[in-house]
Amino acid sequence: MENEKLFNSGVLTCECKGAVLPPKELWENKKGGLVIIECPQRIPCNPCGTSCPTGAVKPFADINDNPDIDYSKCTGCGLCVAKCPGLACFVIDLTFASEKALIKMPHEMLPVPEKGDKVSCLNRTGEIVAEGIVESVVEPLKDSTKVLHVSVDKKYVDQVRAVRVVK
Ligand code: SF4
Ligand code: SF4
Repeated sequence: MENEKLFNSGVLTCECKGAVLPPKELWENKKGGLVIIECPQRIPCNPCGTSCPTGAVKPFADINDNPDIDYSKCTGCGLCVAKCPGLACFVIDLTFASEKALIKMPHEMLPVPEKGDKVSCLNRTGEIVAEGIVESVVEPLKDSTKVLHVSVDKKYVDQVRAVRVVK
């Protein structure tokens, strides 16, 4: 039923397998943040696993497997964010500030924002849910997807998955 909802709408909802946040006790004080991977369908794809330098994305037994995460090994480096062709990997750092979290998210749209820019933060259906500030724009791997580090109010971390540049 949950997956039926996902496949009919194309939108991952929090009840669907795959929209899984890290365990709170590991996540709350983890400097650098922890990975969130929203990839519930079995597809022949594994760059999240092959790009992860620590084994936090466990090696795939079958290339169609869904990613399986060992949160204790995640450094929040964001390499999987840059390498995932489905833009399904994120890192969320809850230690950024008392009221704000830092979301490291893939960004392939133009224009590319700059450090200090205000952006509209979008949920999984593309609706604006909050305002964010671009804290940095990084390209962790040559010719890979850019990764935006966006600060946003902590109460939106389970919703914000993309931004729209406000120019
Ligand atoms: S953020 Fe870095 S350490 Fe964590 S799963 Fe992704 S590649 Fe691995
Ligand atoms: S690289 Fe992205 S799309 Fe491919 S399996 Fe990993 S999370 Fe899913």
